[in-house]
Amino acid sequence: MAKSDLTKTDNPFTNAMQQLTLAADVLRRTVTRNELPDLERNIALLRQPKRILNVTVPVSMDDGTVRIFDGYRVQYNDARGPYKGGIRYHHQVSLDEVKALSFWMAMKCAVADLPLGGGKGGIIVDPKLLTAGELERMSRGYARAIADCIGPDKDVPAPDVNTNGVIMGWMVNEYINYQKSKIPPLPKLRGTGKNKLTDREELRLRSTFTGKLIRDGGSEGREEATGLGGLFVLQTMLARLGLKGEMTAVVQGFGNVGYNMAKFLSGAGFKVIAVSDSRGAILVPGGINPELTLECKKKNGYLAGCYCSGSVCDLTKGKQITNEELLELPVDILVPAALENVLTKQNAPRVKAKVVLEMANGPTTPDADEILYKRGIPVVPDILSNSGGVTVSAFEWEQNLKGQHWTKAEVNRKLKLRMVSATGAVWDASRRHKIPMRTAAFVTALTRIFAAMK
Ligand code: GLU
Repeated sequence: MAKSDLTKTDNPFTNAMQQLTLAADVLRRTVTRNELPDLERNIALLRQPKRILNVTVPVSMDDGTVRIFDGYRVQYNDARGPYKGGIRYHHQVSLDEVKALSFWMAMKCAVADLPLGGGKGGIIVDPKLLTAGELERMSRGYARAIADCIGPDKDVPAPDVNTNGVIMGWMVNEYINYQKSKIPPLPKLRGTGKNKLTDREELRLRSTFTGKLIRDGGSEGREEATGLGGLFVLQTMLARLGLKGEMTAVVQGFGNVGYNMAKFLSGAGFKVIAVSDSRGAILVPGGINPELTLECKKKNGYLAGCYCSGSVCDLTKGKQITNEELLELPVDILVPAALENVLTKQNAPRVKAKVVLEMANGPTTPDADEILYKRGIPVVPDILSNSGGVTVSAFEWEQNLKGQHWTKAEVNRKLKLRMVSATGAVWDASRRHKIPMRTAAFVTALTRIFAAMK
């Protein structure tokens, strides 16, 4: 979709600002007359990012031509710490999308109570159309283009849609080489190796990117963290909602987040009866086996036909359905885990799930939010439910800065503590103010951010 095709409700930044407005209205009711001017100033400041970087990345293509890719890094708010957030590769990336995503990152880090602000990056590209070499050169070029504006105490990027640990490895390597090239050549030290970075200094620079592979300084548990964090949030929330017993779930999206979510849900006893990718969905009433389904998808290139239940894949066990049908299945838990604007005013009246757990960023439009709220379907908001990823990113950053490497058990223990506490804070705010959980999550985040902006 080209930028000009965005209608008002498709525009993620318009939607994000509408969410801010709802939370601001609640906050206005909680302050005294004297405090109001400060609150209004802070709300006004949060209506735009602090800095927008627009980059052009020239890439030598395999056929000898040069193509220029457009990209962004938006640094939204750093009141609580360095800007933090992923880098997305997608042909539908737009400045307004990256602005919305960076705003949501600031909110997310505050909900999880991390000492970080919010940022996001993106390149307008369909990475599936690039060769491995082209992908690497584009990634390195982008890292060079933003190198002066990032760093352990400035801005800490990470993976997002269509980016991963390998890409973070290329980027951090490029970034470190760039920083090394800036160390002034001291004639007396030349050849002695003393004008090089020490191991500790290099590890510090490595903390500029998170979501790295372990061999590049990554953290145990980072790849699975968004899914595992989502499970901890869901379990905590279901207990508060008083919902228990055997439950069914569907997951829209089968990338890193969707796959891991399906895996953890199955592992925790939920029956995951449908999953989807960009080409369509599969329904397996007996409950899918996520590992086998992923293996099958890797082999075929798509999910259709991957009807894997128990320990076998068998065509008689499932059928193909559309993405739309998946969203409207009668299940307990609906998990959108792909892109924005999936639940809209068109399909929200037909959603039959008992709870929506948002693992994508921005999957529900404000119109759909209102409809679901009125229908009594709780939406566990993205800035809470998918905050496990950035939480373990923060752990990775901390480990690199301290020169430590924590065990997976330690990482997951700390992750659980954060997720349970963030869920409790959002739940309490929602009860106290009698507001939907999304607005409650924003109220929680904004209170923390505004305290840091004083
Ligand atoms: N891209 C992920 C998100 O949207 C993770 C960001 C990070 O780890 O910084 O939350």
